[in-house]
Amino acid sequence: MTTTPFPKPRVGVSACALGQQVRFDGGHKRSHFVDAVLGPLVEYHAVCPEEEAGLGVPRPTMRLVHDPERESPLVLETRSGKDHTALLEDWSEQRTKDLAAQDLDGFLLTAKSPSCGMERVKIYRDNGMPHTHSGSGVFAAALMERYPLLVVEEVQRMNDLPLRDNFCFRLFAARRVKDMFRSEWTRGDVVNFHTREKMALLTRGRVGYRKLGSMVARIHEIPREEFATEYTAIFLDTLRLLPTRGRLIDAVQHMVGHFKEDLDPRERSEFLEAVQEFHAGRLALAGIGRLLRVLAARHGREWVADQSLLDPGPKELTLYGSAF
Ligand code: SF4
Repeated sequence: MTTTPFPKPRVGVSACALGQQVRFDGGHKRSHFVDAVLGPLVEYHAVCPEEEAGLGVPRPTMRLVHDPERESPLVLETRSGKDHTALLEDWSEQRTKDLAAQDLDGFLLTAKSPSCGMERVKIYRDNGMPHTHSGSGVFAAALMERYPLLVVEEVQRMNDLPLRDNFCFRLFAARRVKDMFRSEWTRGDVVNFHTREKMALLTRGRVGYRKLGSMVARIHEIPREEFATEYTAIFLDTLRLLPTRGRLIDAVQHMVGHFKEDLDPRERSEFLEAVQEFHAGRLALAGIGRLLRVLAARHGREWVADQSLLDPGPKELTLYGSAF
């Protein structure tokens, strides 16, 4: 069983979520988790679209307004109706292009903002009545369009533990896969990487799991660059899915199946009890994972002990630490 070093992912973040006083009223929207818990484990690159585009602090409030002539809504000042659409769209186009130099793995966006909101941002009619709740902020839309594989989530959803766990897992996985393919990788490196990620992929269903398995089996037939690009894309796309309870149970059963015959009576009873607690939703994945890793390492099943699913991120994040 190896102790995993976790290279720091590079993460873009709405500046107000780090406590920077850049909101329209000169305030911030600091998230304790984003700033104090995740912060020391990642490299942040803070962005405030409205402030950086020159709208100043403080500034009038703005909102998205439906325009039947356009695909995307306008960004208008709430009171005066002054139109900042072109300014924010042009700025976002250039800023997202420049972000390539930051080599970001993910981005945390402040929700509901006409600039940063990832989804479900309110769009109004020009008479001030709500039109839909299906908008994205101007900067967020440009970001997600330019970098479709970026691990993006809203700051406010970090309070939802399954979403938080999945976001953090994907962030560290994104850095791992990038680091591997940027090295002088060998086929053996890819096989080892894929073996370690197998159970995490399985908890997201069989489609990506099978596609990647088949790619790895044909690795010698695929040109290096093409392999790296395609493997990375399918890998990150597969991890986008939330693991379901049923699939987590399947993955645990799958791992146990490989060595349960080797357990002595005491280990077996301890383990079966843990599995029952896990099935009943009273034991978290992190809890059963710890036991699985110890037993697998003791009985020479290193591939189980080393699964990323059982060692999902730095311990400070306590990922998968709540029962589901
Ligand atoms: S939500 Fe975005 S634009 Fe608004 S203050 Fe925060 S970082 Fe700036």
